[in-house]
Amino acid sequence: MRIQLYNTLAREKQDFVPMDPERVTLYVCGPTVYNYAHIGNFRPPVVFDTLFRLLRRTYGAEAVLYARNITDIEDKIIARAIEEGVALEAITKRYAEAYFADLDALGVLETTFTPWATAHLDGMIAIISTLVEKEHAYIAEDGVYFHVPSMANYGRLSRRTLEDNEAGARVEVDAAKKNPADFALWKFTKPGEPDDAIWDSPWGRGRPGWHIECSAMAVADLGESIDIHGGGIDLQFPHHENEIAQSECAHGAPMANYWMHNGFLDMAGEKMSKSLGNVVLLKELREDWPGEVLRFALLSGHYRAPLDWTGELLAQAKVTLDRLYGALRRVWTETGAEADDTGVYEALSDDLNTPNALAELARLATEANTAADQKDLAAMAQARANLLDAGELLGLLGQEPSAWEQRGDENDKARIDALVEARLAARLAKDWAEADRIRDELAAEGIEVMDGAGGSTWRRV
Ligand code: AMP
Ligand code: ZN
Repeated sequence: MRIQLYNTLAREKQDFVPMDPERVTLYVCGPTVYNYAHIGNFRPPVVFDTLFRLLRRTYGAEAVLYARNITDIEDKIIARAIEEGVALEAITKRYAEAYFADLDALGVLETTFTPWATAHLDGMIAIISTLVEKEHAYIAEDGVYFHVPSMANYGRLSRRTLEDNEAGARVEVDAAKKNPADFALWKFTKPGEPDDAIWDSPWGRGRPGWHIECSAMAVADLGESIDIHGGGIDLQFPHHENEIAQSECAHGAPMANYWMHNGFLDMAGEKMSKSLGNVVLLKELREDWPGEVLRFALLSGHYRAPLDWTGELLAQAKVTLDRLYGALRRVWTETGAEADDTGVYEALSDDLNTPNALAELARLATEANTAADQKDLAAMAQARANLLDAGELLGLLGQEPSAWEQRGDENDKARIDALVEARLAARLAKDWAEADRIRDELAAEGIEVMDGAGGSTWRRV
């Protein structure tokens, strides 16, 4: 039971040692819900879902507490609500629901906590108050700011100096700030902003900054210090750096011991992003591909490396899943064995090496095929148990092989079932010509009929 994780704080792989193995905590920054999410947005939830599965397997399902938030207060949401002339909640509910449906299609487990920012205003105000008291924050003309030079080791996650940050800071708001690197904790309301985007605070009406939302939600659900904090590589600076600044200056304790960041999903060598316009929405992909193919494709690269999203990647993922489910089908009826420790667990324990884990899963499928070829019933039962157990760790192979192989339109399925039965009836009546005719008819639309001891089944090939 040794898990190694690459810790961005240390820039190296380290043994993962939780503060309390009976209460392992994980926080991952969630989406801002103002439009439909693209496949790049799902790399973090799928990567960290795989980590969640590994931790649950290691420490026990009840011992792992995982929070992934919904950012439902943010400038882009307000802009969208004004544009459509509807309440903020109409926007955030719509896109959060779509997001949850997409997560479900990707086989992402429910998290222990799903905090929404709007439910945590008190917590945000409490942290800001502490920061003001401790003179880490000050009230300016247009809001309350965190004063970056007040924190001696600011920048230790991203390894940026104060000078870097001053140079990179946005210029428009400089007038109100003491230092260009200072960032907003609370933004006072400006004329024309909708009522439902305004909250009271000790300093004046307005709304929280994005960074303080996560600091408040993380402490509310998981505590002042957590084991692992994750997110996309783009969040390292400024978002995570600022979460650290707020939480650590307020609480006087490390916010997280391990910081993990996933690389970008690219298209043609460029980051998939709304601003570049090179996005593929998940709800569109789901029309053409099973969610499991999308998950497989996302896991096919190591999480820290960039992953290029191509048609070929998807086609390859589908072919591999067909092969895995084909092997699982051949051993499906042999039950009762207990899974061995497999190379899949070992690969994931090595900083979530999913490419190696998928290679190990393919090896288990080969074992299943060999056992089936040899009609070795005990080996078949073992192979079935191993495939299912390793699959669960990766969030794959969760369906019955027949459900995978026959997936598609329900009416169509009923039609094919009826044809397969008619063929069986013809065979029983020794009407070979009719049986062959039906088999050929099905073959012409890409359906293979398989005759076994228990009757006939079919699959799409
Ligand atoms: P955004 O909507 O750009 O703020 O992104 C929301 C979340 O998705 C953040 O955690 C980002 O790190 C992540 N994300 C956005 N685009 C990509 C991408 N192309 N590859 C991987 N993660 C991404
Ligand atoms: Zn965050």
